[in-house]
Amino acid sequence: MALVNDHFLKLPNNYLFADIAKKVNAFKAMHPKVDVISLGIGDVTQPLAPAVIEAIHKAADEMATSQGFRGYGPEQGYDFLRDAILKNDFLPRGIHLDRDEVFINDGAKSDTGNIQELIRWDNSIGVTDPIYPVYIDSNVMIGRAGWKGEDGRWSNVMYMPCNAENGFVPKLPDHRVDVVYLCYPNNPTGTVISKDELRKWVNYALKNDTLIFYDAAYQAYIQDDKIPHSIYEIRGARKCAIEFHSYSKTAGFTGIRCGYTIVPKDVTAATLTGERIPLNPLWYRRQCTKFNGTSYISQRAAEAIYTPEGKEQIKATINYYMDNAKKMLTTLRSLGFECYGGENAPYIWAKTPETSSSWKFFEEMLYGAHVVCTPGVGFGPAGEGYVRFTAFGSHEKTDEALDRIRQWLKK
Ligand SMILES: *Cc1c(COP(=O)(O)O)cnc(C)c1O
Repeated sequence: MALVNDHFLKLPNNYLFADIAKKVNAFKAMHPKVDVISLGIGDVTQPLAPAVIEAIHKAADEMATSQGFRGYGPEQGYDFLRDAILKNDFLPRGIHLDRDEVFINDGAKSDTGNIQELIRWDNSIGVTDPIYPVYIDSNVMIGRAGWKGEDGRWSNVMYMPCNAENGFVPKLPDHRVDVVYLCYPNNPTGTVISKDELRKWVNYALKNDTLIFYDAAYQAYIQDDKIPHSIYEIRGARKCAIEFHSYSKTAGFTGIRCGYTIVPKDVTAATLTGERIPLNPLWYRRQCTKFNGTSYISQRAAEAIYTPEGKEQIKATINYYMDNAKKMLTTLRSLGFECYGGENAPYIWAKTPETSSSWKFFEEMLYGAHVVCTPGVGFGPAGEGYVRFTAFGSHEKTDEALDRIRQWLKK
Protein backbone atom coordinates (compact mmCIF):
# COMPACT_ATOMS: atom_id res chain seq x y z
CA MET A 1 0.00 0.00 0.00
CA ALA A 2 1.36 3.37 -0.97
CA LEU A 3 0.95 5.93 1.77
CA VAL A 4 0.05 9.39 0.62
CA ASN A 5 2.06 12.49 1.54
CA ASP A 6 -0.69 13.70 3.84
CA HIS A 7 0.73 17.19 4.06
CA PHE A 8 -1.07 17.73 0.75
CA LEU A 9 -4.35 17.05 2.52
CA LYS A 10 -3.82 20.08 4.73
CA LEU A 11 -3.92 22.39 1.73
CA PRO A 12 -7.17 24.10 0.87
CA ASN A 13 -8.76 22.22 -2.02
CA ASN A 14 -8.81 24.99 -4.50
CA TYR A 15 -6.29 27.38 -5.80
CA LEU A 16 -7.56 30.96 -5.44
CA PHE A 17 -8.06 31.45 -9.17
CA ALA A 18 -10.10 28.25 -9.44
CA ASP A 19 -12.46 29.64 -6.78
CA ILE A 20 -12.77 32.89 -8.68
CA ALA A 21 -13.40 31.09 -11.97
CA LYS A 22 -16.16 29.06 -10.31
CA LYS A 23 -17.95 32.18 -9.11
CA VAL A 24 -17.52 33.95 -12.45
CA ASN A 25 -18.84 30.88 -14.30
CA ALA A 26 -21.86 30.73 -12.01
CA PHE A 27 -22.59 34.36 -12.87
CA LYS A 28 -22.13 33.73 -16.58
CA ALA A 29 -24.45 30.73 -16.51
CA MET A 30 -27.18 32.96 -15.08
CA HIS A 31 -26.39 35.91 -17.36
CA PRO A 32 -25.24 34.36 -20.65
CA LYS A 33 -25.49 37.63 -22.59
CA VAL A 34 -23.31 39.72 -20.31
CA ASP A 35 -19.64 39.93 -21.16
CA VAL A 36 -17.52 40.06 -18.05
CA ILE A 37 -14.21 41.97 -17.97
CA SER A 38 -11.48 40.56 -15.81
CA LEU A 39 -9.11 42.86 -13.98
CA GLY A 40 -8.38 39.85 -11.85
CA ILE A 41 -6.00 37.24 -13.10
CA GLY A 42 -2.27 37.96 -13.22
CA ASP A 43 -1.68 36.96 -16.83
CA VAL A 44 -0.45 39.33 -19.52
CA THR A 45 -2.45 40.00 -22.69
CA GLN A 46 -0.21 41.77 -25.20
CA PRO A 47 1.65 39.77 -27.88
CA LEU A 48 5.34 38.93 -27.75
CA ALA A 49 7.87 41.49 -28.97
CA PRO A 50 8.84 41.21 -32.67
CA ALA A 51 12.50 40.67 -31.68
CA VAL A 52 11.41 37.68 -29.59
CA ILE A 53 9.29 36.23 -32.39
CA GLU A 54 12.19 36.58 -34.80
CA ALA A 55 14.50 34.76 -32.39
CA ILE A 56 11.96 31.96 -31.97
CA HIS A 57 11.66 31.50 -35.75
CA LYS A 58 15.41 31.51 -36.13
CA ALA A 59 15.91 28.98 -33.34
CA ALA A 60 13.22 26.73 -34.81
CA ASP A 61 14.93 26.85 -38.21
CA GLU A 62 18.25 25.94 -36.61
CA MET A 63 16.62 22.92 -35.01
CA ALA A 64 15.51 21.79 -38.48
CA THR A 65 19.11 21.20 -39.59
CA SER A 66 21.47 18.49 -38.43
CA GLN A 67 24.19 21.04 -37.57
CA GLY A 68 21.81 23.33 -35.75
CA PHE A 69 19.80 20.71 -33.89
CA ARG A 70 20.00 20.91 -30.08
CA GLY A 71 18.92 18.18 -27.74
CA TYR A 72 19.39 18.33 -23.99
CA GLY A 73 21.08 21.56 -23.08
CA PRO A 74 23.04 22.35 -19.94
CA GLU A 75 20.71 21.98 -16.92
CA GLN A 76 21.71 25.40 -15.65
CA GLY A 77 21.12 27.08 -19.02
CA TYR A 78 23.07 28.14 -22.08
CA ASP A 79 26.02 30.47 -21.62
CA PHE A 80 24.72 32.91 -24.24
CA LEU A 81 21.74 33.70 -22.01
CA ARG A 82 23.60 33.63 -18.70
CA ASP A 83 26.14 36.08 -20.10
CA ALA A 84 23.41 38.38 -21.46
CA ILE A 85 21.83 38.40 -18.00
CA LEU A 86 25.06 39.31 -16.23
CA LYS A 87 25.85 42.01 -18.77
CA ASN A 88 22.39 43.61 -18.86
CA ASP A 89 20.61 42.96 -15.58
CA PHE A 90 23.51 43.16 -13.12
CA LEU A 91 26.71 44.83 -14.38
CA PRO A 92 24.99 48.18 -15.08
CA ARG A 93 23.90 48.21 -11.41
CA GLY A 94 27.44 47.51 -10.24
CA ILE A 95 26.69 43.89 -9.36
CA HIS A 96 29.40 41.40 -10.29
CA LEU A 97 28.23 37.80 -10.43
CA ASP A 98 29.83 34.72 -11.94
CA ARG A 99 28.19 32.89 -14.77
CA ASP A 100 27.73 29.79 -12.62
CA GLU A 101 25.75 31.77 -10.07
CA VAL A 102 23.02 32.12 -12.73
CA PHE A 103 20.58 29.23 -13.20
CA ILE A 104 18.14 29.52 -16.09
CA ASN A 105 14.71 28.24 -15.08
CA ASP A 106 11.38 27.54 -16.75
CA GLY A 107 9.74 30.37 -14.83
CA ALA A 108 10.05 31.68 -11.31
CA LYS A 109 7.12 29.68 -9.98
CA SER A 110 9.05 26.42 -10.26
CA ASP A 111 12.14 27.72 -8.52
CA THR A 112 10.39 29.73 -5.78
CA GLY A 113 8.46 26.54 -5.05
CA ASN A 114 11.43 24.19 -5.31
CA ILE A 115 14.13 26.16 -3.52
CA GLN A 116 12.87 25.06 -0.09
CA GLU A 117 14.21 21.56 -0.86
CA LEU A 118 17.66 22.89 0.04
CA ILE A 119 16.76 23.43 3.68
CA ARG A 120 15.72 21.01 6.41
CA TRP A 121 12.04 20.46 7.16
CA ASP A 122 12.34 22.02 10.63
CA ASN A 123 13.51 25.50 9.63
CA SER A 124 11.27 28.37 10.66
CA ILE A 125 9.92 30.49 7.82
CA GLY A 126 8.62 34.03 7.67
CA VAL A 127 6.48 35.65 5.00
CA THR A 128 5.00 39.05 4.37
CA ASP A 129 1.22 38.94 4.47
CA PRO A 130 -0.50 39.15 1.95
CA ILE A 131 1.73 37.05 -0.27
CA TYR A 132 2.11 35.07 -3.52
CA PRO A 133 0.62 31.70 -2.40
CA VAL A 134 3.42 29.54 -3.85
CA TYR A 135 5.86 30.32 -1.02
CA ILE A 136 3.64 28.98 1.74
CA ASP A 137 1.96 26.16 -0.18
CA SER A 138 5.31 24.68 -1.25
CA ASN A 139 6.33 24.60 2.42
CA VAL A 140 3.00 23.06 3.42
CA MET A 141 3.53 20.21 0.95
CA ILE A 142 6.61 18.96 2.75
CA GLY A 143 5.28 19.56 6.24
CA ARG A 144 7.24 22.66 7.19
CA ALA A 145 4.25 24.96 7.66
CA GLY A 146 2.47 23.03 10.39
CA TRP A 147 -1.33 23.33 10.63
CA LYS A 148 -3.74 25.91 9.35
CA GLY A 149 -5.58 27.60 12.18
CA GLU A 150 -9.06 29.13 12.31
CA ASP A 151 -7.53 32.51 11.58
CA GLY A 152 -6.15 31.28 8.24
CA ARG A 153 -2.57 31.24 9.50
CA TRP A 154 -0.22 28.24 9.46
CA SER A 155 1.13 27.34 12.87
CA ASN A 156 4.85 27.26 11.91
CA VAL A 157 4.82 30.30 9.64
CA MET A 158 5.63 33.76 10.93
CA TYR A 159 3.40 36.35 9.27
CA MET A 160 4.52 39.93 8.80
CA PRO A 161 1.40 41.94 8.01
CA CYS A 162 1.65 44.63 5.34
CA ASN A 163 -1.22 47.08 5.35
CA ALA A 164 -2.08 50.75 5.08
CA GLU A 165 -1.19 51.27 8.75
CA ASN A 166 2.48 50.35 8.23
CA GLY A 167 2.67 51.69 4.69
CA PHE A 168 3.06 48.11 3.37
CA VAL A 169 6.57 47.95 4.82
CA PRO A 170 6.86 44.79 6.93
CA LYS A 171 8.31 45.25 10.40
CA LEU A 172 11.51 43.33 11.13
CA PRO A 173 10.71 40.29 13.27
CA ASP A 174 11.47 40.74 16.98
CA HIS A 175 13.03 37.27 17.09
CA ARG A 176 15.16 35.31 14.68
CA VAL A 177 13.70 33.27 11.87
CA ASP A 178 15.65 30.90 9.59
CA VAL A 179 14.20 31.81 6.22
CA VAL A 180 12.28 34.85 4.96
CA TYR A 181 10.47 35.25 1.64
CA LEU A 182 10.34 38.77 0.22
CA CYS A 183 8.77 39.86 -3.08
CA TYR A 184 9.34 43.37 -4.47
CA PRO A 185 7.72 45.00 -6.36
CA ASN A 186 5.06 43.08 -4.52
CA ASN A 187 2.40 40.78 -5.80
CA PRO A 188 -0.40 41.32 -4.76
CA THR A 189 -0.08 44.84 -3.27
CA GLY A 190 1.93 46.46 -6.07
CA THR A 191 4.03 48.26 -3.45
CA VAL A 192 7.84 48.55 -3.49
CA ILE A 193 10.67 48.56 -0.98
CA SER A 194 13.22 51.38 -0.76
CA LYS A 195 16.95 50.73 -0.64
CA ASP A 196 17.05 51.80 3.01
CA GLU A 197 14.27 49.40 4.00
CA LEU A 198 15.82 46.56 2.02
CA ARG A 199 19.17 47.27 3.67
CA LYS A 200 17.50 46.74 7.05
CA TRP A 201 16.43 43.27 5.88
CA VAL A 202 19.87 42.35 4.62
CA ASN A 203 21.42 43.52 7.89
CA TYR A 204 18.82 41.60 9.86
CA ALA A 205 19.64 38.49 7.80
CA LEU A 206 23.38 38.85 8.28
CA LYS A 207 23.01 39.44 12.01
CA ASN A 208 20.53 36.62 12.61
CA ASP A 209 21.93 34.14 10.09
CA THR A 210 18.69 34.24 8.12
CA LEU A 211 18.35 33.14 4.52
CA ILE A 212 16.34 35.49 2.25
CA PHE A 213 14.44 34.22 -0.79
CA TYR A 214 13.91 37.35 -2.86
CA ASP A 215 11.37 37.32 -5.69
CA ALA A 216 12.09 40.08 -8.21
CA ALA A 217 9.56 38.94 -10.84
CA TYR A 218 8.24 42.49 -11.30
CA GLN A 219 11.52 44.45 -11.25
CA ALA A 220 11.05 45.52 -14.90
CA TYR A 221 8.01 47.59 -13.86
CA ILE A 222 10.00 49.88 -11.57
CA GLN A 223 9.72 53.47 -12.80
CA ASP A 224 11.43 55.24 -9.92
CA ASP A 225 15.24 55.08 -10.32
CA LYS A 226 15.80 54.99 -6.57
CA ILE A 227 13.94 51.70 -6.06
CA PRO A 228 16.25 48.64 -6.10
CA HIS A 229 15.82 46.12 -8.94
CA SER A 230 17.84 43.45 -7.20
CA ILE A 231 18.64 42.65 -3.58
CA TYR A 232 22.32 42.44 -4.61
CA GLU A 233 22.31 46.22 -4.89
CA ILE A 234 22.62 46.00 -1.11
CA ARG A 235 26.06 45.24 0.28
CA GLY A 236 26.24 41.85 1.97
CA ALA A 237 23.19 40.41 0.19
CA ARG A 238 25.26 37.89 -1.72
CA LYS A 239 26.03 36.22 1.61
CA CYS A 240 22.39 35.76 2.59
CA ALA A 241 20.03 35.99 -0.41
CA ILE A 242 18.86 33.89 -3.34
CA GLU A 243 17.00 35.88 -6.00
CA PHE A 244 14.36 34.84 -8.54
CA HIS A 245 13.65 36.50 -11.88
CA SER A 246 11.08 35.76 -14.52
CA TYR A 247 10.51 36.87 -18.11
CA SER A 248 6.79 36.23 -17.67
CA LYS A 249 5.79 39.74 -16.68
CA THR A 250 8.95 41.38 -18.07
CA ALA A 251 8.38 40.23 -21.64
CA GLY A 252 5.08 38.33 -21.81
CA PHE A 253 6.70 34.91 -21.42
CA THR A 254 3.87 33.35 -19.39
CA GLY A 255 3.36 30.86 -22.24
CA ILE A 256 7.00 30.60 -23.37
CA ARG A 257 8.40 29.76 -19.89
CA CYS A 258 11.79 31.17 -18.98
CA GLY A 259 13.40 33.01 -16.09
CA TYR A 260 16.45 32.65 -13.88
CA THR A 261 17.59 32.20 -10.31
CA ILE A 262 20.72 33.67 -8.75
CA VAL A 263 22.40 31.47 -6.16
CA PRO A 264 25.59 33.29 -5.10
CA LYS A 265 28.51 31.12 -4.07
CA ASP A 266 28.72 32.95 -0.75
CA VAL A 267 25.26 31.86 0.39
CA THR A 268 25.49 29.02 2.88
CA ALA A 269 23.33 27.07 5.29
CA ALA A 270 24.52 25.17 8.35
CA THR A 271 24.61 21.48 9.26
CA LEU A 272 23.49 20.46 12.75
CA THR A 273 27.14 20.50 13.80
CA GLY A 274 27.56 24.04 12.52
CA GLU A 275 29.50 23.36 9.36
CA ARG A 276 28.65 25.90 6.61
CA ILE A 277 27.53 24.38 3.32
CA PRO A 278 27.42 26.56 0.16
CA LEU A 279 24.00 26.32 -1.48
CA ASN A 280 25.20 26.98 -5.04
CA PRO A 281 26.60 23.45 -5.62
CA LEU A 282 23.57 21.97 -3.87
CA TRP A 283 21.18 23.78 -6.20
CA TYR A 284 23.30 22.71 -9.16
CA ARG A 285 23.11 19.12 -7.94
CA ARG A 286 19.36 19.39 -7.43
CA GLN A 287 18.78 20.84 -10.90
CA CYS A 288 20.94 18.19 -12.58
CA THR A 289 18.79 15.50 -10.98
CA LYS A 290 15.31 16.98 -11.33
CA PHE A 291 15.48 19.40 -14.24
CA ASN A 292 16.64 18.94 -17.81
CA GLY A 293 16.86 22.58 -18.74
CA THR A 294 14.64 25.22 -20.30
CA SER A 295 14.08 24.71 -24.02
CA TYR A 296 16.70 26.11 -26.39
CA ILE A 297 13.99 28.03 -28.24
CA SER A 298 12.78 29.71 -25.03
CA GLN A 299 16.33 30.68 -24.10
CA ARG A 300 16.99 32.19 -27.52
CA ALA A 301 13.70 34.06 -27.15
CA ALA A 302 14.86 35.40 -23.78
CA GLU A 303 18.24 36.41 -25.18
CA ALA A 304 16.44 38.55 -27.77
CA ILE A 305 14.96 40.84 -25.13
CA TYR A 306 18.49 42.06 -24.37
CA THR A 307 19.09 43.29 -27.93
CA PRO A 308 18.61 47.04 -28.48
CA GLU A 309 15.33 46.43 -30.38
CA GLY A 310 14.18 43.85 -27.86
CA LYS A 311 14.78 46.22 -24.96
CA GLU A 312 12.82 48.97 -26.65
CA GLN A 313 9.94 46.69 -27.56
CA ILE A 314 9.47 45.17 -24.12
CA LYS A 315 9.73 48.63 -22.56
CA ALA A 316 6.90 49.77 -24.83
CA THR A 317 4.68 46.94 -23.63
CA ILE A 318 5.51 47.63 -20.00
CA ASN A 319 4.64 51.29 -20.57
CA TYR A 320 1.39 50.18 -22.16
CA TYR A 321 0.43 48.29 -18.99
CA MET A 322 1.65 51.10 -16.76
CA ASP A 323 -0.62 53.52 -18.67
CA ASN A 324 -3.49 51.28 -17.60
CA ALA A 325 -2.22 51.36 -14.04
CA LYS A 326 -2.11 55.15 -14.06
CA LYS A 327 -5.65 55.41 -15.37
CA MET A 328 -6.90 52.85 -12.88
CA LEU A 329 -5.28 54.66 -9.98
CA THR A 330 -6.69 58.03 -11.01
CA THR A 331 -10.19 56.71 -11.65
CA LEU A 332 -10.44 54.48 -8.60
CA ARG A 333 -9.17 57.27 -6.35
CA SER A 334 -11.60 59.75 -7.86
CA LEU A 335 -14.36 57.27 -7.02
CA GLY A 336 -13.28 57.32 -3.41
CA PHE A 337 -11.20 54.16 -3.21
CA GLU A 338 -8.11 54.12 -1.05
CA CYS A 339 -5.50 52.65 -3.44
CA TYR A 340 -1.91 51.48 -3.10
CA GLY A 341 0.72 50.24 -5.54
CA GLY A 342 0.29 50.80 -9.27
CA GLU A 343 3.24 53.18 -9.63
CA ASN A 344 6.12 50.72 -9.93
CA ALA A 345 4.10 47.56 -10.46
CA PRO A 346 1.17 46.41 -12.58
CA TYR A 347 -1.05 45.84 -9.54
CA ILE A 348 -3.37 48.13 -7.63
CA TRP A 349 -4.39 47.18 -4.13
CA ALA A 350 -7.65 48.84 -3.20
CA LYS A 351 -9.36 49.02 0.15
CA THR A 352 -12.95 47.77 0.03
CA PRO A 353 -15.71 49.88 1.58
CA GLU A 354 -16.05 49.41 5.37
CA THR A 355 -19.07 47.15 5.01
CA SER A 356 -17.55 44.76 2.46
CA SER A 357 -15.14 41.91 2.98
CA SER A 358 -12.84 41.01 0.08
CA TRP A 359 -15.16 38.28 -1.22
CA LYS A 360 -18.33 40.31 -0.66
CA PHE A 361 -16.92 43.23 -2.66
CA PHE A 362 -15.72 40.83 -5.35
CA GLU A 363 -19.28 39.48 -5.76
CA GLU A 364 -20.90 42.90 -5.58
CA MET A 365 -18.68 44.23 -8.35
CA LEU A 366 -19.11 41.09 -10.44
CA TYR A 367 -22.90 41.33 -10.24
CA GLY A 368 -23.12 45.13 -10.28
CA ALA A 369 -20.42 46.13 -12.78
CA HIS A 370 -19.57 42.80 -14.47
CA VAL A 371 -15.93 43.38 -13.61
CA VAL A 372 -13.72 40.81 -11.90
CA CYS A 373 -11.06 41.64 -9.33
CA THR A 374 -9.11 39.35 -6.99
CA PRO A 375 -10.19 39.16 -3.34
CA GLY A 376 -7.23 40.24 -1.22
CA VAL A 377 -7.87 37.67 1.49
CA GLY A 378 -6.95 34.99 -1.07
CA PHE A 379 -3.34 36.16 -0.61
CA GLY A 380 -3.34 35.90 3.19
CA PRO A 381 -5.24 37.03 6.27
CA ALA A 382 -3.87 40.60 6.11
CA GLY A 383 -5.39 40.88 2.64
CA GLU A 384 -8.91 40.88 4.10
CA GLY A 385 -10.64 44.14 3.29
CA TYR A 386 -8.66 44.66 0.09
CA VAL A 387 -8.95 43.60 -3.54
CA ARG A 388 -6.33 43.46 -6.27
CA PHE A 389 -6.78 44.99 -9.72
CA THR A 390 -4.31 44.14 -12.49
CA ALA A 391 -3.15 46.46 -15.25
CA PHE A 392 -2.52 43.60 -17.70
CA GLY A 393 -5.68 44.20 -19.74
CA SER A 394 -5.93 45.94 -23.10
CA HIS A 395 -6.50 49.71 -22.99
CA GLU A 396 -10.00 49.22 -24.38
CA LYS A 397 -11.08 46.62 -21.84
CA THR A 398 -9.49 48.51 -18.98
CA ASP A 399 -11.25 51.75 -19.97
CA GLU A 400 -14.53 49.95 -20.27
CA ALA A 401 -14.11 48.23 -16.93
CA LEU A 402 -13.43 51.59 -15.27
CA ASP A 403 -16.52 53.08 -16.94
CA ARG A 404 -18.62 50.21 -15.67
CA ILE A 405 -17.33 50.63 -12.14
CA ARG A 406 -18.11 54.36 -12.32
CA GLN A 407 -21.67 53.69 -13.56
CA TRP A 408 -22.20 50.98 -10.96
CA LEU A 409 -21.17 53.21 -8.07
CA LYS A 410 -23.46 56.01 -9.28
CA LYS A 411 -26.52 53.82 -8.83
C1 LIG B 1 4.01 35.79 -11.98
C2 LIG B 1 4.89 35.62 -10.80
C3 LIG B 1 6.04 34.84 -10.86
C4 LIG B 1 6.52 34.24 -12.14
O1 LIG B 1 5.94 33.12 -12.54
P1 LIG B 1 6.52 32.35 -13.79
O2 LIG B 1 6.57 30.94 -13.32
O3 LIG B 1 7.87 32.89 -14.09
O4 LIG B 1 5.55 32.56 -14.89
C5 LIG B 1 6.85 34.74 -9.76
N1 LIG B 1 6.55 35.37 -8.62
C6 LIG B 1 5.48 36.14 -8.53
C7 LIG B 1 5.23 36.85 -7.27
C8 LIG B 1 4.60 36.28 -9.60
O5 LIG B 1 3.52 37.03 -9.49
